[in-house]
Amino acid sequence: MRGTVIYGPRDIRFEERPDPQIIEPTDAIIRTSATCVCGSDLWPYRGVDPVTEPRPIGHEYCGIVEEVGSAVRNIKPGQFVVGSFFSSDNTCPICQAGYQSRCVRGEFACPTGGQAPYLRVPLADGTLVATPYMPSDDLIPSLLAASDVLGTGWFAADAANVRPGSTAAIVGDGAVGLCAVIAAKQMGAERIIMMSRNVSRAALAREFGATDIVEERGDEGVARIKEMTGGLGAHSLVEAVGTQESMMQAIRSTRAGGHVGFVGVSHDVEIPGLELFYSEVHLLGGPAPVRRFLPELIDLIWNRQIDPGKVFDLRLPLEQVAEGYRAMDERRAIKALLMP
Ligand SMILES: [Zn+2]
Repeated sequence: MRGTVIYGPRDIRFEERPDPQIIEPTDAIIRTSATCVCGSDLWPYRGVDPVTEPRPIGHEYCGIVEEVGSAVRNIKPGQFVVGSFFSSDNTCPICQAGYQSRCVRGEFACPTGGQAPYLRVPLADGTLVATPYMPSDDLIPSLLAASDVLGTGWFAADAANVRPGSTAAIVGDGAVGLCAVIAAKQMGAERIIMMSRNVSRAALAREFGATDIVEERGDEGVARIKEMTGGLGAHSLVEAVGTQESMMQAIRSTRAGGHVGFVGVSHDVEIPGLELFYSEVHLLGGPAPVRRFLPELIDLIWNRQIDPGKVFDLRLPLEQVAEGYRAMDERRAIKALLMP
Protein backbone atom coordinates (compact mmCIF):
# COMPACT_ATOMS: atom_id res chain seq x y z
CA MET A 1 0.00 0.00 0.00
CA ARG A 2 0.94 3.66 -0.06
CA GLY A 3 0.76 5.61 3.20
CA THR A 4 1.70 8.96 4.71
CA VAL A 5 5.16 9.55 6.17
CA ILE A 6 6.48 12.73 7.77
CA TYR A 7 10.15 13.36 6.98
CA GLY A 8 10.56 16.73 8.69
CA PRO A 9 9.04 20.21 8.87
CA ARG A 10 6.62 20.72 5.96
CA ASP A 11 7.79 17.49 4.35
CA ILE A 12 4.86 15.05 4.06
CA ARG A 13 5.18 12.20 1.55
CA PHE A 14 2.68 9.62 0.36
CA GLU A 15 4.83 6.64 -0.43
CA GLU A 16 5.16 2.87 -0.59
CA ARG A 17 4.78 1.23 2.83
CA PRO A 18 4.57 -2.36 4.03
CA ASP A 19 1.00 -3.69 4.26
CA PRO A 20 0.02 -3.81 7.97
CA GLN A 21 -0.06 -7.35 9.37
CA ILE A 22 -1.50 -8.91 12.50
CA ILE A 23 1.35 -9.01 15.03
CA GLU A 24 -0.40 -9.62 18.36
CA PRO A 25 -3.41 -11.96 18.62
CA THR A 26 -5.41 -8.96 19.96
CA ASP A 27 -4.81 -6.86 16.79
CA ALA A 28 -7.20 -5.99 13.98
CA ILE A 29 -6.50 -4.78 10.45
CA ILE A 30 -8.84 -2.02 9.28
CA ARG A 31 -9.48 -0.89 5.71
CA THR A 32 -9.82 2.87 6.11
CA SER A 33 -13.05 4.46 4.83
CA ALA A 34 -11.87 7.96 5.70
CA THR A 35 -9.05 9.57 7.64
CA CYS A 36 -7.92 13.15 8.24
CA VAL A 37 -5.27 15.58 9.40
CA CYS A 38 -5.33 16.50 13.10
CA GLY A 39 -4.44 19.89 14.56
CA SER A 40 -1.84 18.03 16.64
CA ASP A 41 -0.22 16.72 13.41
CA LEU A 42 0.65 20.35 12.73
CA TRP A 43 3.06 20.49 15.70
CA PRO A 44 5.63 18.20 14.00
CA TYR A 45 4.66 19.59 10.58
CA ARG A 46 5.61 23.08 11.75
CA GLY A 47 8.80 21.81 13.39
CA VAL A 48 7.61 22.64 16.91
CA ASP A 49 7.89 18.92 17.74
CA PRO A 50 11.16 17.64 16.27
CA VAL A 51 11.05 14.84 13.70
CA THR A 52 14.31 12.91 14.11
CA GLU A 53 13.59 10.26 11.49
CA PRO A 54 10.87 9.60 8.91
CA ARG A 55 7.79 8.08 10.54
CA PRO A 56 4.25 7.17 9.52
CA ILE A 57 1.70 9.70 10.76
CA GLY A 58 -2.06 10.01 11.34
CA HIS A 59 -4.33 8.76 14.11
CA GLU A 60 -7.97 9.42 13.17
CA TYR A 61 -9.75 6.65 11.35
CA CYS A 62 -12.88 4.67 10.73
CA GLY A 63 -13.43 1.81 8.37
CA ILE A 64 -14.13 -1.83 7.77
CA VAL A 65 -12.48 -4.67 9.68
CA GLU A 66 -10.45 -6.80 7.26
CA GLU A 67 -8.91 -9.30 9.63
CA VAL A 68 -8.64 -9.95 13.39
CA GLY A 69 -6.11 -11.81 15.52
CA SER A 70 -6.91 -15.15 17.16
CA ALA A 71 -7.70 -13.61 20.58
CA VAL A 72 -10.20 -11.02 19.29
CA ARG A 73 -13.71 -11.98 20.42
CA ASN A 74 -16.15 -9.13 19.79
CA ILE A 75 -14.87 -7.31 16.72
CA LYS A 76 -15.49 -9.23 13.50
CA PRO A 77 -14.32 -8.91 9.90
CA GLY A 78 -16.83 -6.95 7.81
CA GLN A 79 -17.94 -4.67 10.67
CA PHE A 80 -17.69 -0.90 10.31
CA VAL A 81 -15.72 0.42 13.28
CA VAL A 82 -14.60 3.66 14.88
CA GLY A 83 -11.65 3.73 17.25
CA SER A 84 -9.66 6.15 19.34
CA PHE A 85 -6.04 7.25 18.87
CA PHE A 86 -5.03 5.32 22.01
CA SER A 87 -5.69 1.62 22.21
CA SER A 88 -7.21 0.32 25.43
CA ASP A 89 -8.20 -3.05 26.86
CA ASN A 90 -11.27 -1.36 28.38
CA THR A 91 -11.03 -3.74 31.36
CA CYS A 92 -8.16 -2.50 33.58
CA PRO A 93 -8.96 -0.31 36.62
CA ILE A 94 -7.98 2.87 34.76
CA CYS A 95 -10.23 2.02 31.80
CA GLN A 96 -13.05 1.04 34.14
CA ALA A 97 -12.76 4.47 35.74
CA GLY A 98 -13.24 6.03 32.29
CA TYR A 99 -9.65 6.98 31.47
CA GLN A 100 -9.00 4.63 28.54
CA SER A 101 -6.40 7.04 27.15
CA ARG A 102 -4.19 5.96 30.09
CA CYS A 103 -4.96 2.22 29.92
CA VAL A 104 -2.24 0.20 31.65
CA ARG A 105 -1.89 -1.92 28.49
CA GLY A 106 -2.54 0.94 26.09
CA GLU A 107 -0.33 2.17 23.32
CA PHE A 108 -0.69 4.44 20.29
CA ALA A 109 -3.59 3.00 18.28
CA CYS A 110 -2.07 3.62 14.83
CA PRO A 111 1.51 2.26 14.95
CA THR A 112 1.45 1.76 11.17
CA GLY A 113 0.12 5.29 10.55
CA GLY A 114 -3.50 6.40 10.30
CA GLN A 115 -3.29 8.40 7.05
CA ALA A 116 -3.16 5.20 5.03
CA PRO A 117 -5.64 2.87 3.31
CA TYR A 118 -4.98 0.07 5.85
CA LEU A 119 -3.91 0.13 9.47
CA ARG A 120 -3.18 -2.18 12.35
CA VAL A 121 -5.04 -1.42 15.59
CA PRO A 122 -3.83 -3.07 18.83
CA LEU A 123 -6.28 -4.31 21.51
CA ALA A 124 -9.10 -4.39 18.97
CA ASP A 125 -11.84 -5.56 21.36
CA GLY A 126 -11.25 -2.75 23.83
CA THR A 127 -10.38 -0.01 21.33
CA LEU A 128 -12.90 -0.32 18.51
CA VAL A 129 -16.65 0.26 18.56
CA ALA A 130 -18.77 -1.20 15.75
CA THR A 131 -21.74 0.62 14.21
CA PRO A 132 -25.12 -1.21 14.07
CA TYR A 133 -24.62 -1.87 10.35
CA MET A 134 -22.85 -0.32 7.37
CA PRO A 135 -23.26 3.49 7.50
CA SER A 136 -24.45 5.51 4.52
CA ASP A 137 -21.70 7.63 2.95
CA ASP A 138 -23.02 10.89 4.37
CA LEU A 139 -22.48 9.64 7.95
CA ILE A 140 -18.83 8.79 7.45
CA PRO A 141 -17.38 12.29 8.08
CA SER A 142 -19.23 12.51 11.40
CA LEU A 143 -18.19 8.99 12.44
CA LEU A 144 -14.61 9.90 11.59
CA ALA A 145 -14.94 13.05 13.71
CA ALA A 146 -15.97 10.83 16.64
CA SER A 147 -12.57 9.10 16.58
CA ASP A 148 -10.81 12.21 17.81
CA VAL A 149 -12.08 15.79 17.50
CA LEU A 150 -15.62 15.10 18.67
CA GLY A 151 -14.46 12.70 21.39
CA THR A 152 -11.87 15.23 22.52
CA GLY A 153 -14.31 18.14 22.50
CA TRP A 154 -16.75 15.96 24.42
CA PHE A 155 -14.18 15.06 27.05
CA ALA A 156 -13.24 18.73 27.38
CA ALA A 157 -16.85 19.74 28.01
CA ASP A 158 -17.29 16.82 30.42
CA ALA A 159 -14.06 17.74 32.25
CA ALA A 160 -15.30 21.34 32.35
CA ASN A 161 -18.41 20.00 34.10
CA VAL A 162 -20.91 21.59 31.68
CA ARG A 163 -24.34 21.41 33.31
CA PRO A 164 -27.88 22.29 32.22
CA GLY A 165 -28.38 26.04 32.47
CA SER A 166 -24.70 26.85 32.90
CA THR A 167 -22.40 29.15 30.94
CA ALA A 168 -19.60 27.50 28.97
CA ALA A 169 -16.83 29.29 27.11
CA ILE A 170 -14.42 27.81 24.60
CA VAL A 171 -10.88 28.98 23.86
CA GLY A 172 -9.78 27.64 20.46
CA ASP A 173 -11.88 27.69 17.29
CA GLY A 174 -10.32 24.64 15.65
CA ALA A 175 -12.23 21.42 15.07
CA VAL A 176 -11.94 20.35 18.74
CA GLY A 177 -13.20 23.68 20.06
CA LEU A 178 -16.07 23.61 17.56
CA CYS A 179 -16.97 20.06 18.62
CA ALA A 180 -16.89 21.22 22.25
CA VAL A 181 -19.71 23.59 21.27
CA ILE A 182 -21.76 20.58 20.11
CA ALA A 183 -20.99 18.84 23.40
CA ALA A 184 -21.85 21.85 25.56
CA LYS A 185 -25.18 22.21 23.77
CA GLN A 186 -25.99 18.51 24.22
CA MET A 187 -25.06 18.80 27.90
CA GLY A 188 -27.57 21.61 28.29
CA ALA A 189 -25.45 24.75 28.62
CA GLU A 190 -27.69 27.81 28.38
CA ARG A 191 -24.97 30.14 27.17
CA ILE A 192 -22.11 28.97 24.96
CA ILE A 193 -19.42 31.54 24.24
CA MET A 194 -16.94 30.81 21.43
CA MET A 195 -13.77 32.86 21.44
CA SER A 196 -12.96 33.39 17.76
CA ARG A 197 -12.09 36.13 15.33
CA ASN A 198 -12.48 33.94 12.25
CA VAL A 199 -15.74 34.64 10.44
CA SER A 200 -16.36 31.17 8.98
CA ARG A 201 -15.39 29.35 12.20
CA ALA A 202 -17.59 31.66 14.26
CA ALA A 203 -20.46 30.97 11.86
CA LEU A 204 -20.02 27.20 12.26
CA ALA A 205 -19.84 27.64 16.04
CA ARG A 206 -23.20 29.42 15.91
CA GLU A 207 -24.62 26.65 13.75
CA PHE A 208 -23.44 24.13 16.37
CA GLY A 209 -25.12 26.09 19.18
CA ALA A 210 -22.84 28.94 20.29
CA THR A 211 -24.92 31.83 21.62
CA ASP A 212 -22.12 34.43 21.71
CA ILE A 213 -18.86 35.10 19.89
CA VAL A 214 -16.02 36.93 21.63
CA GLU A 215 -13.26 38.27 19.40
CA GLU A 216 -11.00 39.65 22.13
CA ARG A 217 -8.04 37.59 23.32
CA GLY A 218 -5.75 37.47 26.35
CA ASP A 219 -6.60 39.92 29.14
CA GLU A 220 -9.20 41.63 26.97
CA GLY A 221 -10.87 38.29 26.28
CA VAL A 222 -10.94 37.52 30.01
CA ALA A 223 -12.42 40.96 30.74
CA ARG A 224 -15.12 40.41 28.12
CA ILE A 225 -16.12 37.01 29.58
CA LYS A 226 -16.28 38.53 33.08
CA GLU A 227 -18.40 41.39 31.79
CA MET A 228 -20.83 38.90 30.21
CA THR A 229 -21.16 36.85 33.41
CA GLY A 230 -21.85 39.48 36.04
CA GLY A 231 -18.15 39.84 36.85
CA LEU A 232 -17.85 36.20 37.94
CA GLY A 233 -16.50 34.32 34.92
CA ALA A 234 -17.99 31.29 33.18
CA HIS A 235 -18.87 28.06 34.99
CA SER A 236 -17.06 25.92 32.42
CA LEU A 237 -14.07 26.66 30.25
CA VAL A 238 -12.77 24.50 27.43
CA GLU A 239 -9.15 25.07 26.45
CA ALA A 240 -8.41 23.60 23.02
CA VAL A 241 -5.15 25.24 21.91
CA GLY A 242 -2.29 24.29 24.24
CA THR A 243 -0.36 27.54 24.58
CA GLN A 244 0.50 29.66 27.62
CA GLU A 245 -1.86 32.41 26.49
CA SER A 246 -4.82 30.11 25.84
CA MET A 247 -4.36 28.22 29.12
CA MET A 248 -4.19 31.39 31.22
CA GLN A 249 -7.12 32.86 29.29
CA ALA A 250 -9.13 29.76 30.19
CA ILE A 251 -8.18 29.72 33.89
CA ARG A 252 -8.75 33.47 34.32
CA SER A 253 -12.14 33.35 32.55
CA THR A 254 -13.45 30.70 34.99
CA ARG A 255 -15.38 31.67 38.09
CA ALA A 256 -14.28 30.46 41.53
CA GLY A 257 -15.53 26.91 41.92
CA GLY A 258 -15.74 26.50 38.15
CA HIS A 259 -14.04 23.95 35.93
CA VAL A 260 -11.47 24.05 33.13
CA GLY A 261 -11.26 21.13 30.70
CA PHE A 262 -7.98 21.42 28.80
CA VAL A 263 -7.32 19.30 25.75
CA GLY A 264 -4.96 21.38 23.62
CA VAL A 265 -1.66 19.47 23.63
CA SER A 266 0.36 21.51 26.13
CA HIS A 267 3.41 23.27 24.68
CA ASP A 268 5.65 25.03 27.22
CA VAL A 269 2.70 25.95 29.44
CA GLU A 270 3.61 26.96 32.98
CA ILE A 271 0.90 27.74 35.48
CA PRO A 272 1.83 30.16 38.28
CA GLY A 273 1.17 28.26 41.51
CA LEU A 274 -0.02 31.16 43.62
CA GLU A 275 -2.48 32.35 40.98
CA LEU A 276 -3.82 28.81 40.63
CA PHE A 277 -4.10 28.55 44.42
CA TYR A 278 -6.27 31.64 44.70
CA SER A 279 -8.28 30.91 41.54
CA GLU A 280 -10.19 28.03 43.19
CA VAL A 281 -10.88 26.42 39.83
CA HIS A 282 -10.92 22.71 39.00
CA LEU A 283 -8.48 21.63 36.30
CA LEU A 284 -8.81 18.39 34.37
CA GLY A 285 -7.26 17.67 31.02
CA GLY A 286 -5.04 15.48 28.95
CA PRO A 287 -5.40 13.16 25.97
CA ALA A 288 -9.11 12.49 25.80
CA PRO A 289 -10.41 9.05 26.77
CA VAL A 290 -12.41 9.03 23.54
CA ARG A 291 -13.33 5.37 24.02
CA ARG A 292 -15.46 6.28 27.05
CA PHE A 293 -17.73 8.43 24.89
CA LEU A 294 -17.71 6.49 21.59
CA PRO A 295 -20.89 4.42 22.07
CA GLU A 296 -22.91 7.53 22.97
CA LEU A 297 -21.36 9.62 20.18
CA ILE A 298 -21.95 6.95 17.54
CA ASP A 299 -25.55 6.72 18.71
CA LEU A 300 -26.09 10.50 18.44
CA ILE A 301 -24.55 10.53 14.95
CA TRP A 302 -26.45 7.43 13.84
CA ASN A 303 -29.74 9.05 14.88
CA ARG A 304 -28.69 12.31 13.19
CA GLN A 305 -28.93 14.34 16.38
CA ILE A 306 -25.49 15.86 15.82
CA ASP A 307 -23.49 16.51 12.66
CA PRO A 308 -19.85 17.04 13.67
CA GLY A 309 -18.72 16.08 10.14
CA LYS A 310 -19.34 19.73 9.23
CA VAL A 311 -15.90 20.55 10.64
CA PHE A 312 -14.42 19.02 7.47
CA ASP A 313 -14.37 21.91 5.03
CA LEU A 314 -11.87 20.35 2.65
CA ARG A 315 -12.12 16.91 1.07
CA LEU A 316 -9.16 15.41 -0.77
CA PRO A 317 -8.07 12.06 -2.15
CA LEU A 318 -5.69 10.48 0.38
CA GLU A 319 -2.78 10.71 -2.06
CA GLN A 320 -3.07 14.53 -1.83
CA VAL A 321 -2.49 14.41 1.93
CA ALA A 322 0.37 16.96 1.71
CA GLU A 323 -2.11 19.56 0.41
CA GLY A 324 -4.34 18.80 3.40
CA TYR A 325 -1.48 19.68 5.74
CA ARG A 326 -0.70 22.86 3.79
CA ALA A 327 -4.32 24.00 3.84
CA MET A 328 -4.62 23.49 7.59
CA ASP A 329 -1.21 25.01 8.31
CA GLU A 330 -2.20 28.13 6.37
CA ARG A 331 -5.63 28.09 8.07
CA ARG A 332 -7.32 27.85 4.67
CA ALA A 333 -9.16 24.81 6.05
CA ILE A 334 -10.50 23.92 9.48
CA LYS A 335 -9.96 20.22 8.85
CA ALA A 336 -9.07 18.13 5.84
CA LEU A 337 -10.92 14.86 5.15
CA LEU A 338 -8.88 12.31 3.24
CA MET A 339 -10.53 9.58 1.17
CA PRO A 340 -8.47 6.51 0.24
ZN1 LIG B 1 -7.17 -0.53 30.34
